[in-house]
Amino acid sequence: KTTSEKFTFQAEIKKLLDLLSHSLYQNREIAIRELISNASDALDKYRFLALTDESIKDEQPLEIRLEPDAENRILGICDNGVGMTHAELIENIGTIAHSGSLDFLKNAAGDEKEEVSLIGKFGVGFYSAFMLADKVEVLTRSYQEESGWKWESDGTGSFTIEPQEGLERGTSIRLHLRKDLDEFTNDTRLKFILNKYSTFVPYPIKLGEELVNDQPPIWLEPKTQLTQEQYDGFYQYLAHNGEEQARWHLHLSSDSPFQFHSILYCPQSNLELMGFGRTEHGISLCAKRILVQNDNRDLLPEYLRFIYGLVDSADLPLNISRESLQDNTIFRKIQKVLVKRVLSHLASMAKDDEEKYLEFYRQFGSCLREGIGTDFENRDTIAKLLRFPSSNGTSENELVSLEAYLERADESQKQIYYLGGNDFNTIAKNPNLEIFRKKGIEVFYLPDPMDEIVLSNLMKFEDHDIVSIDSSDVKLPGETDTEVDSEEKSEKKEEQKEPLSPEFEKVISLFEEELKDDVESVTKSDRLTDSPCCLVMPEGAISSQLQKVLSMNNK
Ligand code: ADP
Ligand code: MG
Repeated sequence: KTTSEKFTFQAEIKKLLDLLSHSLYQNREIAIRELISNASDALDKYRFLALTDESIKDEQPLEIRLEPDAENRILGICDNGVGMTHAELIENIGTIAHSGSLDFLKNAAGDEKEEVSLIGKFGVGFYSAFMLADKVEVLTRSYQEESGWKWESDGTGSFTIEPQEGLERGTSIRLHLRKDLDEFTNDTRLKFILNKYSTFVPYPIKLGEELVNDQPPIWLEPKTQLTQEQYDGFYQYLAHNGEEQARWHLHLSSDSPFQFHSILYCPQSNLELMGFGRTEHGISLCAKRILVQNDNRDLLPEYLRFIYGLVDSADLPLNISRESLQDNTIFRKIQKVLVKRVLSHLASMAKDDEEKYLEFYRQFGSCLREGIGTDFENRDTIAKLLRFPSSNGTSENELVSLEAYLERADESQKQIYYLGGNDFNTIAKNPNLEIFRKKGIEVFYLPDPMDEIVLSNLMKFEDHDIVSIDSSDVKLPGETDTEVDSEEKSEKKEEQKEPLSPEFEKVISLFEEELKDDVESVTKSDRLTDSPCCLVMPEGAISSQLQKVLSMNNK
């Protein structure tokens, strides 16, 4: 008698399965990587439970086994990790758990080749099993239960679950390989794949009786003994993003005043710019080599969220909970050091090779600049790392630093000028620029409203106020009324009015009459050379471009 229950997959999963089984994408190896990575996650969870829960004992060694059966064309991938209960089976591999998976689907509709290799990033790695198999069985027994379950599906519309006797704790994924995929039962082929993707898995992986991974943790080795290939391999293992090599990496080790080792990687490209959602991977945190958390989002601030990496400290307690980490002094000290080291790495990169730095900035500048509003401790350092287009260049691709701007500026210039607008060329036509152009004063052009928010938020850089040139806060170099108090200032304005010719008075009052509901005041300007008039913002007001952005957001 069977008590098999039948379930239908969520609509999104059906779409995903369809995509995977019909994908022309040839790199089917990534399915092995994803399933091994799930096995490793299940072992991490079990090891962590055993550390924190007295009643759970770690009798047998935790390991992953590959069981090829060439005769029946089956590949088994087995672990003795946490396993899954009936409810977990339905929840974890019948519904899309992560919001990222919808993004994945949306994007996968475009360039399949690129996107499919990203599958693991979006919490849908399990389904890659159907790239290899036309039937998948999941045999599993949760550490919480006395007996287990068999999940089964042919990857079309539905799956079944039935009770299964005689299972040990953990999970076995049995792949009934597609007709032309016999190679995945071949030892040599499997060893090749494991070597490529899974050397850094921190548990023994066995093929039959043979141990196929025996890599020591590379972050503990001295930098000088490691090869680029080893760094690349570790990056591929951590990031799963299809990139062969990181843009740059940073290997940090310290023994005092507290002990920690870390390898941090910056990816080649920023998925956020490609229309994927927010990057949400975090850093792997280890204590005495044992993984405590694989997606820690507190070690690095939000604005450095693009960085992958691992941090290991012997000074962190092993059984620390996610919640109490923030209160741990060592944790907080490590946080500080990491941020400082990443920022100083970027600073020296910018100094040594501006072109290389700009390539980085074009990808990740949009994250980095967020730090101006959130990381007050490192604000000055971050400000120096920012780059913006300016009137010194010919397009928005030519980026300039605040320091370079000041180096070029005349000593009498006490302010840093910027102007927002829809795009570089529109900004360049703004009549407010005429006087700056005439006097040869550089102005930052900010087509990206976020850049404008960042600069107006920064307010000051090396004693120079940062002002939008369409505001009346602007003081041109040589205009010396900065020290004058407001009373005198208004007197001065009166004085200025005096020499106005009667004709000019007339023009102004005509304008005032016509625009009285739309403008605060109409005044004579010395800033224009070619255009008859321009709009400026009252003193202290936000720039017109920002106002546009804000009112857009309010709609
Ligand atoms: P992700 O690993 O990103 O969560 P996957 O699609 O790879 O997404 O896996 C979905 C979920 O299925 C996992 O989060 C986990 O809860 C469960 N799962 C998959 N494989 C195993 C396994 N070998 N042991 C225990 N649980 C597993
Ligand atoms: Mg996974």
